[in-house]
Formats: sequence, structure tokens, C-alpha cells
Amino acid sequence: MLYVGGKWVEEGEVAVHPEDRGYNFGDGIYEVVRIYKGKMYQWDAHLTRLFRSAREIKMELPWSAEELSSLAHQLMEKNNITENDDATLYLQVSRGVSPRVHDIPAAGSIEPVIMAFVRTKARPVADMKKGQTAQLVEDIRWLRCDIKTLNLLGAVLVKQYAKDAGAQDSILHRNGIVTECSSANLFAVKNGALYTHPADHLILHGITRQVVIDLARENGIAVNEEAFTTDFLKEADEVFLTSTTAEIMPLISVDGQPVGKGTVGPVSLKLQDLFEQHINANVLV
Ligand code: PMP
Repeated sequence: MLYVGGKWVEEGEVAVHPEDRGYNFGDGIYEVVRIYKGKMYQWDAHLTRLFRSAREIKMELPWSAEELSSLAHQLMEKNNITENDDATLYLQVSRGVSPRVHDIPAAGSIEPVIMAFVRTKARPVADMKKGQTAQLVEDIRWLRCDIKTLNLLGAVLVKQYAKDAGAQDSILHRNGIVTECSSANLFAVKNGALYTHPADHLILHGITRQVVIDLARENGIAVNEEAFTTDFLKEADEVFLTSTTAEIMPLISVDGQPVGKGTVGPVSLKLQDLFEQHINANVLV
């Protein structure tokens, strides 16, 4: 069962209005939330980011945090997500339906359309152990990557460029400065310290990114939130990406060249271990 525009519906019954602005323009926002063993992880952080994204696109959400939490729990219940399930919850809000013009309809004349579903999804355990490959790709996205917008064509294309080059994921750069990946944040490890792009308008302020930064600092691993070049990346001892679904995913080769020794390195392993403990201690009851 899905929740669409205030109604519970089965998948085959969903109809998108032809002039839904999410559908026409990608004019809307979304979140993907991890569910571990039937319980949500970092739900509050996702809600905070959803409300921030809404503010940044001048959209007022008519639901309270409590209403959205209740919706999330109902979704899990109606879809029989239990303590045996790892899953994801997808929640999107389109600005709503109005005649197709670019400018934003006046407040009160349009109602946001919410859509949410859950799907079981296993953790990428094998890849986290073995690592993945990545390809450097020019970051062709817009200049507000901090907003979690439905408009993902830039992300779609850069991911495909990397796949076409034979890699599993893309590492994006703007004029030689590494930003993030198509759907994840990026960290490099050099001499035991972490480096990652500052949380400005050029990257999504990833929730997993922040958890990793906090865990690293609490455990004596230095973190530098500063921009670095593709040359620095290629000289890194270890590289990994972070996201809600990929967790801490080591990248063991970039552009066909091994990163460090070409295997999952000790700092990545340590952080994976700390992250595992964090999940177990922090899922919502
Ligand atoms: N950057 C981009 C572009 C993303 O799409 C995502 C995934 N939502 C992330 C980073 C990682 O964010 P999070 O850890 O909150 O999933």
C-alpha cells in the first residue's frame, strides 16, 4: 500500500495528475529513510532536512513532524514491515497541481501532494566488504545540490556516464575539485585523517556523512571538511562514499587505478565497525 495525496492506495491504482509540478518540473522534494529490522534510523534528521528543503524551494508543508512520523509508522504497519525486515521508506512531496507555468502559484492556491512507500531492501553487505569501483565525472548538476529536489536528471546522467565507462559509481568534480558522488557523499583518507567537501551549496548535506564525521571525531580520527582536488583523490590511501542505503562503501579503484593498495583499508573498516554499533544503538523504537 502506498500513501498518495492523502489516500491509501494499491500500486496499480496510482494516477499522477498531468499537471502535477513534481511530474512536469521535478518541482518537489524527497527523503529516503533507512529501516533496520523494522525500525527507522535517523528519522528526525530526515524530517529536519525535508523541512529545510521545503523552505529553500519556498514551499510550505501542511503537515507537522508528528503527522509525518505517524504516516511513516502506518506505512510500515500496513506493509507488514517487521523486525525481520531491512527496508527503505521513500517520501516525496510535489509542490502540487496547477496549470503549467514556471512561476510558483500564490500561497493558498496550491496544495502539496505527498507520496510515500516502503520497500524491503537488504544492506549491501558483500559490496561493503569488497568495495566498489568509481569513475571521475564532471559535476554537471545545478548550484543548489544542498536541496534534496526531485529534479535528478543531472544525477541520473553522471551515474550513467560512470556506468558506461565500466565503473559502479561516479565521483563528481567541478573544475578538478571533488564534490560528492551521484547519490552519496565522498570521503578521502590520507595519513589517517578524513577529507570531505564542506557542506555548502555544492553537495547534499548527507545524514550518513554527518554521522561518520561525528563518529570519527569521537574516536580520535581527524576530519577536514575542506575541498580537495582530483589529484589529491588519486593519491589518497582510502576512499569511501556514504549514504543512507550504501552506508560506508569503500571505493577501491578510481578511473581504473587502485586506490591505495586496492583493497578496503583500515580506516574504512574501523568506521564501518563504529557505524554498525551506531545503528544498533540508535534505531527508533
Ligand atoms: N549526496 C547525494 C547527491 C545524494 O543523493 C545522497 C543520498 N540521498 C547523499 C549525498 C547521501 O545522503 P544521506 O546520507 O542523507 O542518504
